[in-house]
Amino acid sequence: MGKRAIFWFRRDLRLADNPALLAAIDEADEVLPLFILDDEVSERAGSHRRSYLAASLHALNESLNGNLIVKSGSPVEVITDLMKRYKAESVHSAFPFAPYGEARDQELKSAGIEVQQLGSGYAVAPGRVRKDDGTNYRVYTPFYRAWLAHGWRAPVSAPKKAQWVSPQKGDQQLPGWHISEGVSIQEAGEKAALNRFKAFLKKAADDYGDARNIPGIEGTSRLSPHLRWGEIHPRTILAALGQSKGHEVYRKEIAWREFYADVLHHNPHTSRDYYDAKYKKMRYDKPGKQFEAWCEGKTGYPFVDAAMRQLVKEGWMHNRTRMVVASFLVKDLHIEWQYGANFFMKYLIDNDVASNSHGWQWTAGCGTDASPYYRVFNPIEQGKRFDPDGVYIKKFIPELSHLSGDDVHEPWESDQGYLKNYPKRIVDHAAERLESLARLEEIKAAKPLKP
Ligand SMILES: Cc1cc2nc3c(=O)[nH]c(=O)nc-3n(C[C@H](O)[C@H](O)[C@H](O)COP(=O)(O)OP(=O)(O)OC[C@H]3O[C@@H](n4cnc5c(N)ncnc54)[C@H](O)[C@@H]3O)c2cc1C
Repeated sequence: MGKRAIFWFRRDLRLADNPALLAAIDEADEVLPLFILDDEVSERAGSHRRSYLAASLHALNESLNGNLIVKSGSPVEVITDLMKRYKAESVHSAFPFAPYGEARDQELKSAGIEVQQLGSGYAVAPGRVRKDDGTNYRVYTPFYRAWLAHGWRAPVSAPKKAQWVSPQKGDQQLPGWHISEGVSIQEAGEKAALNRFKAFLKKAADDYGDARNIPGIEGTSRLSPHLRWGEIHPRTILAALGQSKGHEVYRKEIAWREFYADVLHHNPHTSRDYYDAKYKKMRYDKPGKQFEAWCEGKTGYPFVDAAMRQLVKEGWMHNRTRMVVASFLVKDLHIEWQYGANFFMKYLIDNDVASNSHGWQWTAGCGTDASPYYRVFNPIEQGKRFDPDGVYIKKFIPELSHLSGDDVHEPWESDQGYLKNYPKRIVDHAAERLESLARLEEIKAAKPLKP
């Protein structure tokens, strides 16, 4: 028997453009490909995320000719046991770069297990892009310029020849999680990611700049779940982009993901806590019946409700409507952003703590170069502007399918509006906007909290 190494797949469920995997293959004669189902997935993840992961693991197992080891338990226990039973001498993985993954690394370190790490799920690892004075960026646009100037490596190919170790009996606990009835999530896996990206490049990338704001069409790439699970690496995406306007805008979106990962790296507390501490002092309401209505897509505001129903139906929501529903929760219902972020994390198949917490904080006015708090999204005008014919609204709200023109955005203006029992508005947007501005005045007058 030659030298054996464990390759621990984490948020990189792919073979192509995976330098850490190549390092394991280079170092050893045989590699044990491993995925660990720990508590985060088994207990905390909602059924959408679990089904997506299950499908992705099945796809990965296929690419590994059926040799993926899948074990439940804590990484320390699982890895210690496998090293002993399979006589593996080393463990390899990529750097995780999120508080949860970093905590798992720390546990392994404390148990005396050295993990050889290389690369990350980012084109430029969080923490690398710095200002001339060595500090990190707090504003996106200068970060973007410095990130571009920093550059990144070219993608690497999938391993040409690798010797996988076959799992022993009981070591392939591939989950059989299936999606609930009425839910439809997109296809998972490396192949699906590459196919989706190719189709996007061909079809949509040139007019992406405009199309990306229209939730009723397939104007965005929907690569976020693939990026979240590392079924495609951003380097692979960036290497294929050219200089057209659409490609330029798309590169900037990829950079938002990198920016938020960098911000979280420097401010780990912001996964749950305020980036701008003064907003902690704001007067918020406790979540109750109105929060439930928001979760269920029954606020009576069609654009908000369509989006919340999309989230529950598809485990994904369009970026435009993520902003609209987030603004509605914080500024119309006066509920702290963390409640919404948790609900998103439960349902999103692209759940990513950096993009989610900072997407929420941006909208709530307390994040990095945040949209100012006094900018309150108008859920009716947003719908009229970005879903003028109500295509998106009608797709997710059958109670409004009989309406046309502006009535679909304002069913209260039509005598047919409530014909199919669409819920009445739970709040008056105009009044709540003023209320949220009044609450802002209160913290402006208060002394600032220490960060
Ligand atoms: C309140 C809120 C919560 C969010 N939560 C998440 C989350 O948990 N996970 C997540 O991946 N994204 C999150 N986003 C960002 C964004 O909405 C999604 O990345 C995007 O909608 C994914 O769809 P797409 O792949 O079709 O995007 P595309 O428009 O095709 O963009 C390509 C990629 O760029 C990145 N990207 C685009 N916009 C953003 C952005 N605003 N911030 C960070 N990265 C971006 C994503 O990786 C995305 O896949 C959130 C945004 C908001 C406002």
